[in-house]
Amino acid sequence: MIASIADVDVSGKRVLTRVDFNVPQDEAGEITDDNRIRESLATIRTIVKGGGIAVVMSHLGRPKGERKKKYSLGPVAERLSQLLQPDGTTVLFAEDCIGEAAATTVAAAKPGNVVLLENLRFYPQEEANDPDFCAALAVNGDMYCNDAFGTAHRAHASTSGVAALFPSVSAGLLMQKELAYLGKALDEPARPLVSVMGGSKISGKIDVISALMEKCDTILIGGGMMYTFLKAQGHNVGSSLVEEDRIGLAHELLKNAAKRNIRLVLPTDAVVARSFSNDAEHKIVAATDIEDGWMGLDIGPETSNTYAKIIEEAGTVVWNGPMGVFEFSNFAAGTKAISDAMARATGKGVITIVGGGDSAAAISQFGQATHVTHVSTGGGASLEFLEGKTLPGVVALDR
Ligand code: AMP
Repeated sequence: MIASIADVDVSGKRVLTRVDFNVPQDEAGEITDDNRIRESLATIRTIVKGGGIAVVMSHLGRPKGERKKKYSLGPVAERLSQLLQPDGTTVLFAEDCIGEAAATTVAAAKPGNVVLLENLRFYPQEEANDPDFCAALAVNGDMYCNDAFGTAHRAHASTSGVAALFPSVSAGLLMQKELAYLGKALDEPARPLVSVMGGSKISGKIDVISALMEKCDTILIGGGMMYTFLKAQGHNVGSSLVEEDRIGLAHELLKNAAKRNIRLVLPTDAVVARSFSNDAEHKIVAATDIEDGWMGLDIGPETSNTYAKIIEEAGTVVWNGPMGVFEFSNFAAGTKAISDAMARATGKGVITIVGGGDSAAAISQFGQATHVTHVSTGGGASLEFLEGKTLPGVVALDR
C-alpha cells in the first residue's frame, strides 16, 4: 500500500520531499520552462497547509558529482519563492543538501516554510545510493515523501535508499496522479486500447512494444522506427534511418502481432527528404517505395488521417514518441496531426495519455497539452512503467 501525503499528519513535522526540479535553463542560467516546479506545488502546498516544513530536494542536470555553479538550484529556489508568493509562503535555500549548511537552514525553518536543499548530484553518492549519504540526508526530515515520478526509475539515495530510514513514507500528489493514470491505462483500460509508438529507434523501445503487445488492441507505428519495420517487410526505404541489426526483431514483432490478433499498423505514406535538414528538398511518397537518395522524416498525410481516425475511435490511447523529426517545421505535420487527434479524441471521452520526453514536448509545442487526459512528467520512468517494470522509487513507498 502506498500512502498519500494528503492522508499523512504533517503538523510540526519536517517532510523530506524528493521532487523533480530538473528544469531546462538557457546559457545564462535562466529557467526556460518552469513546468516541473509548478507540477510539484500541489504537494508542497499540502505540506505547508498541514503545518509541516517541506524540506525539498532535487537534482539538476548532470554535474557528475561535483559542485558546479551552473547546476545550482539557487535560481530554482527563487522561482519557487515567486510561485509561492501569493500563498505568503517563505522559501529558504540551503547551500548544501547535507551537513552543516542544510542542518542550519532546516533548523531555522518554521512550520509552513519551505526549505530547498542544494543539488543532490553535487555528490556522487546520490546516484550510487550510498548508505552514509542516505543517512546524512535523512537527518533533515521526520518523514519522507516522494513526488519525483521522473526519477522513480532510478534507485538513487534520494529516491530509494533514504526511504528505508523513515517509518512514515508517502507519495506526493503528482506521483499519485502519474501512477493512477498510467496504471489504469494498462490494467483496466477502456477498450480498444491503442498505443502510438514513435521516436528515433526501435532499439530503445523494444521492451515497451513487447509489453504493450500483451495489453493493446492496436499499435500504430511512426517515427524513425517505422523504416526498420518497412525494411523487414521487404520494402525499399532509401537512406531512411534503419537499424540493420533489429530487422529480425521487427520481423518477430510483426509475426507476434499477427499471431495474437493485434493490429500493428505501419504508415502507408511518408514525407521524404534529400538530407537531414529542414531546408532539404522534400516530397510525399508511398511508405513502401522510398527511392535511394531519399530519407523518410515524417509520416505522410494519408497515414496521419488513418491514425487520427483510429485514435478518435479508441477507448484509451497511450502515445510515446514523435511521428517524425518534429523539431524541423517541414517534418512536424505528422506529430502535430497526432497531437490534434489526441485532443479531439479527449473531447469525445477517450482517455488520452502522453508519455513524457519528446512526445510531451511535442504536444506542448502544438498547444494541446491541456486538452488531453494526462501528460506524464517522466520520460524514462513512463517508458519503464509501460514496460511493466517495477520502479525503485515506487517500491520504496510501498509499505
Ligand atoms: P526517441 O528519443 O527515441 O523518442 O526519439 C525522438 C527523436 O526521434 C526526435 O528527436 C525526432 O526528431 C526523432 N525522429 C523521429 N522520426 C525520425 C525519422 N524519421 N528519422 C530520424 N529521426 C527521427
